[in-house]
Amino acid sequence: MSEGIKHLRAVINPMAGRREPIVQTLFAQFKDAPFQWDIKISRDAADIPDIIQQAQNDGVDVIAVYGGDGTILRVVRSILETDIRLAILPGGSGNILAKTLGIPLNLKKACQFLCGEHPQTQSVDVGEFNGEYFLTRICMGFEAEVVEATDRVWQNRIGMLAYGLATLKALRKVRVSEYVITIDGLEYRIKGLACFVANSSNVGLPSVNLLSQSSVTDSKLDVIVVPRITRFFYFKAWFRHVFQSDKNGLLKHWFAESVKVQATPEQTMHCDGEVCKSTSIDARVIPQKLHVLVP
Ligand SMILES: [Mg+2]
Repeated sequence: MSEGIKHLRAVINPMAGRREPIVQTLFAQFKDAPFQWDIKISRDAADIPDIIQQAQNDGVDVIAVYGGDGTILRVVRSILETDIRLAILPGGSGNILAKTLGIPLNLKKACQFLCGEHPQTQSVDVGEFNGEYFLTRICMGFEAEVVEATDRVWQNRIGMLAYGLATLKALRKVRVSEYVITIDGLEYRIKGLACFVANSSNVGLPSVNLLSQSSVTDSKLDVIVVPRITRFFYFKAWFRHVFQSDKNGLLKHWFAESVKVQATPEQTMHCDGEVCKSTSIDARVIPQKLHVLVP
């Protein structure tokens, strides 16, 4: 759906991972923009709800977030109950949602398509987990161990390579658990090293997903179990992204509108890249809830 932008507000997290001249780039790219625009700096996550409330009062129809997936998630949690659309100015190291939706990762190019004649509005699913929204995925097990082992300082310095180093650490820790998975009322039991409940299964590279048929617009969550395999194979798979070859039967996969997962023994969990304290998953999809500007 093509619908013009009337008033865009860029919300900047200056602590996002990249070192680049953000404000200068926005001024250079938006100086002849066919819409009104301005900038707000977010000093920390706590000020996001106030920034969004102010944006509503000011008649803003697009919030363009400069930051990583964490900043985007915080903004999304505040705009979902409004008519405001989301634009992404990728500034993090993962940028999973931008990669999922084909949004340019270069700041200049991400601004340019917004100024073009026909930016499209894509309605995408979001997930709900323990009463909070999530955008990409929840994981128990291996990927959560990787997230927990990732050093944030190094992540800012060397980006995706920091995940590679964390993977080595996580390999020593990961254990097999038995998952009891209830999908739309049907129960399954399966052992594995990791269980994902995913809206997006992008692994951090453009167009590379855990599952090729994964979609953020199909009104379903993907439930994916990585079965018990040798650590060497897992290590190799992680780096080569052979997960894409899900046709080889490596991964167990279900579609779900609602899903519960309990692991025995309990595993480390993350939600949208943040380690969380929960030990079980109770999640559902909320179809086409978020409206994002895409090329
Ligand atoms: Mg889906």
